[in-house]
Amino acid sequence: SQSRIDIPDGNDELTHLSNVFNDMLDKMQLYIEQQKQFVEDVSHELRTPVAVMEGHLKLLNRWGKDDPEILDESLSASLQEIDRMKTLVQEMLDLSRAEQVEIHYKNEKTPIRQIVLQNYNNFKMIHPDFDFILDDDLDQEIYVSIYRNHLEQILIILLDNAVKYSTKRKEVHISIAAQENTVQVAIQDYGEGMTQEDTEKIFGRFYRVDKARSRHKGGNGLGLSIAKELLKGYRGDISVESVLDHGSIFRITLPIYEETEDQVTKES
Ligand code: ADP
Repeated sequence: SQSRIDIPDGNDELTHLSNVFNDMLDKMQLYIEQQKQFVEDVSHELRTPVAVMEGHLKLLNRWGKDDPEILDESLSASLQEIDRMKTLVQEMLDLSRAEQVEIHYKNEKTPIRQIVLQNYNNFKMIHPDFDFILDDDLDQEIYVSIYRNHLEQILIILLDNAVKYSTKRKEVHISIAAQENTVQVAIQDYGEGMTQEDTEKIFGRFYRVDKARSRHKGGNGLGLSIAKELLKGYRGDISVESVLDHGSIFRITLPIYEETEDQVTKES
């Protein structure tokens, strides 16, 4: 960069000092870059819960004072978002302290149908220009073994992407179905899609399809790698099918919660 010192010839001491100075400068610049990236990530991750809370508080302000049902629903939705933000902030703090975030897997009995429905409602609220269509094949609640906030994080990553990479047709289909011992949630968009080659790479850290195309959309190429790692930790999986310029479908599966797991955790 411009402030670097040109290394003079023939004077050992000055050459040494110049090198030290330039190394310091490089380190500082790297540090500043990392801090900038960190602030960008935090802001990005916090945007969804803040938007959801804003929506609920507006509802509350307009109708909630006279309608106990809205009051109840908006308050509990806002409290849940605060809980999510607390997890996010903790993870961001961990990230700022260490190179690698340690994920704290927590097996709890989580109602996946309720959480899918709740995120479907949240996204409808924060993206009124989109059509969200929910295809719910279940006739009762189904429980999976995953920390509730982690399941929400995965859904938000996928729903955020579906919105972000849909330009023309603003439609997102969400489906939930059970098969044998697993539950499958699929999120389909009719957006940019990607090539077969890219579908094999997008779950890697920092990978972004066609940098020029996706740069202006924000993001860091981490979302899907986080979703994949989280799912792996809960014995689940994620896959994608995509056609360039036609859209993508992301599928996640999670094993259905077994009652015995509860006893195992209680005993240990
Ligand atoms: P980010 O969106 O922050 O770049 P992700 O890890 O979530 O990071 O996604 C990695 C890349 O995969 C994105 O940059 C984008 O190119 C591609 N991608 C993800 N989801 C979709 C989607 N629904 N449609 C098209 N491309 C997608």
